[in-house]
Amino acid sequence: MAERSRTNPDRAVVTRRLGARPRAMSADAHEDVIARVVDDAVALGSFVILESVVSTTRRALSTDDADALLLRFAQSVSRYARPPTSRFHVGAAARGTSGNVYLGVNVEISAVPLNHSIHAEQFALVTANANDECKLEAIATTDAPCGHCRQFMNELRDAPGLRCVTRKWRSPLAELLPHAFGPMDLLDDGETLLLEKSSVDASGMNPQFATLAYVHGEKSPPSDDLMPLTRLLERHGDDWNALAPLALEAMRKAYAPYSSSRAGIAIKASCGGTFVGWSLECAAYNPSMSPLQVVFARMVAHGKDLSSIEQCLLLECPGAHVKYDCTVRLTLEKIAPKAAVIVANIGHENIA
Ligand SMILES: [Zn+2]
Repeated sequence: MAERSRTNPDRAVVTRRLGARPRAMSADAHEDVIARVVDDAVALGSFVILESVVSTTRRALSTDDADALLLRFAQSVSRYARPPTSRFHVGAAARGTSGNVYLGVNVEISAVPLNHSIHAEQFALVTANANDECKLEAIATTDAPCGHCRQFMNELRDAPGLRCVTRKWRSPLAELLPHAFGPMDLLDDGETLLLEKSSVDASGMNPQFATLAYVHGEKSPPSDDLMPLTRLLERHGDDWNALAPLALEAMRKAYAPYSSSRAGIAIKASCGGTFVGWSLECAAYNPSMSPLQVVFARMVAHGKDLSSIEQCLLLECPGAHVKYDCTVRLTLEKIAPKAAVIVANIGHENIA
């Protein structure tokens, strides 16, 4: 995948900077330290604060209160929110059992319905998922999590014990979402939940058996000839084949236990960067995230403008109950009208 979890090459720089600070710092100096740590995470395009940097920051600020520090990271990253409609900046910071902190902000998208918005908590969970964190201990938010996010976070194993932290209170998710409807109301015990490593049956997503569903700029519907994805895409240029393995890996990363409709997207931006997104479902359905929302979160984490999308390859399952094809095309028409889109269905092994 294009975006692997990465080590922080600036860790030494951060450590040196923080280590150079005097022991007794003013409140403003504390804020400077927090802001620099967050700015470094944002500048690296990761939105991740590695455990070593978190530990160094705790020592520099002489605090043992990990949740209070988490809240300060959330407050600081809210500067990077993109809320053109509400102008209400939200920041989130989630701490994994690895000790790493995953940041998120709210992203609103002009000219499309409000339900395309990405909430800061969802963004932070996407950051954790993209970096292969399997479990979260706590999440801090600048404001109380909305009902949508409480439901989305309930998709995690042991969600009732997830500590939610705001300026005013700290509560386990179970207290924020009493008598909850959740994954186990629909799934069997032992099923893989959000963030957990899945053992995907790759045979169900075999790129050797693919059909095109939509090709940008072609008026007639694509042929439904079944052939390898690479052969289908090579007719449209090498760039598309470069996106194919990225979209396929994104599809494998999808969390779709309710519809079995895995979907993955790979995008090329005008800067040359490539980004991926995958579907993330929720037992209550509506708080689910589309692969396009996930790829938007990844682009924002890398400081990219969503209008810079040039190419979008969407891979879906044939005959799936859930399809993202139309929504992806309509959304991109509004925010990146020059973007070329190709949609392919893969995994027709039963037909073959
Ligand atoms: Zn929310």
